[in-house]
Amino acid sequence: MKRVVILGAMLLMSLSLSAQTVGGGDKERAKPIRPVRTLGTVSVVDTLPTGNDDLNIVLFNDNTWRYVRLTEYIVDPAIFNDYWNTDITHAYRDVELNTLPESIAIQLVDSLQSYHYPYKGKLSSRYGMRRGRQHQGVDLPLKTGDPIYATFDGKVRYSSRAGDYGNLIVIRHNNGLETYYAHLSKRDVEVGDWVVAGQQIGEGGSTGRSTGPHLHFEVRYRGQSFDPERIVDFKTGELRNDDLLLKRRHFSIHAKFEQDFDDETEAARQAEAERKASAVQYHTIRSGDTLGAIAIKYGTTVNKLCSLNGIKSTTILQIGKKLRVR
Ligand SMILES: [Zn+2]
Repeated sequence: MKRVVILGAMLLMSLSLSAQTVGGGDKERAKPIRPVRTLGTVSVVDTLPTGNDDLNIVLFNDNTWRYVRLTEYIVDPAIFNDYWNTDITHAYRDVELNTLPESIAIQLVDSLQSYHYPYKGKLSSRYGMRRGRQHQGVDLPLKTGDPIYATFDGKVRYSSRAGDYGNLIVIRHNNGLETYYAHLSKRDVEVGDWVVAGQQIGEGGSTGRSTGPHLHFEVRYRGQSFDPERIVDFKTGELRNDDLLLKRRHFSIHAKFEQDFDDETEAARQAEAERKASAVQYHTIRSGDTLGAIAIKYGTTVNKLCSLNGIKSTTILQIGKKLRVR
């Protein structure tokens, strides 16, 4: 697969990046992923089919590539159906905190879904109480016009002016979280647009209640804000962990990340353990996977995998499909 991709990339380069299709026949026609835009300094060259209708390969102009799930294919459609309101900033406002579980294990990224910082830099204001008001996100000073990126893959739920927030974009992600990007000078995406992590969604600015150009960035789970520093180290721009264990007590303006910093590594480990121990577990099939190797990885047998998924040991695995392993 990799060789095909590299060959494809070289072919595309030699065609001065204008090719819409790779290879012959209708079957191999690459479906464009929408929207394809600049991802940082790297831009999307084209998309290639994988033989799996749910999955494409996206080629970048630095010769790297990644799998991207086609937007029509959603693992959990409830995420994009329930409380999907594009007219109000807080779509989950009727969800009561006490209806949420005591702890929530979230897999932030997996083999098909990546991460990118929204903006990288020193925080000028953190999550918490500020001059008697709740500051439900973090502030990152910037220059007006600096690019702002989508943090994870997802769908734009809100893109409009919104009072104190100024120009605001809210993205609902495949992992169930929502991220808020406020005070923007420019919005590049509209409601309903599918975005991938690292895609530029707008430009930083100082619209709304703001004393100077900065990004106000929030992360919410079912409407409840929590300290964005729980997931992002803004100094390096890096994701702290692939897994996030949210506790209900984190949904408080007084629950700062640094207060339980020592617990966090342990919490991340626990999140992974809880997810793995949960009754049902899935594996996303990648290139090169075999039933035998998957069985070993998850401490099960090929026979069990077959009966769980209603397949035969000879069934051809489709890249990107979820295989139940427990
Ligand atoms: Zn702020």
